[in-house]
Amino acid sequence: MIKWTCQYCGEDTTRVDIDYLVNTDHLSCVLKAESQTLANEFDHCILCGVETPYKRSTHIDMRIGYIEGAGQLCSKCYNQGSNNRHFTVPDWLVENTPNDQELGGKVREIYWESKN
Ligand SMILES: [Zn+2]
Ligand SMILES: [Zn+2]
Repeated sequence: MIKWTCQYCGEDTTRVDIDYLVNTDHLSCVLKAESQTLANEFDHCILCGVETPYKRSTHIDMRIGYIEGAGQLCSKCYNQGSNNRHFTVPDWLVENTPNDQELGGKVREIYWESKN
């Protein structure tokens, strides 16, 4: 009879119930290894997809460029985002301009005005 061993903990799994095995490894050992691998993976930038310096296990308080509810940004995207200039479109303009194209024109006007 072939002896089974768990490749993670090295224990004999020959007599372990098949429900608790993945091939010849303990299911629990496989799951533990998987969650460790996952925790050691680096997060990718949600905008451009590059690998960030932060692991998935890194607490968000220790990160720069993490946007709650969205995810991690790389430093490049984060800097671009925070340098973004904003201009304000008043409520009344949106409410009183039912035509989207017209509204777009007016918004653009405000945009150029905000550049001056
Ligand atoms: Zn094991
Ligand atoms: Zn990025």
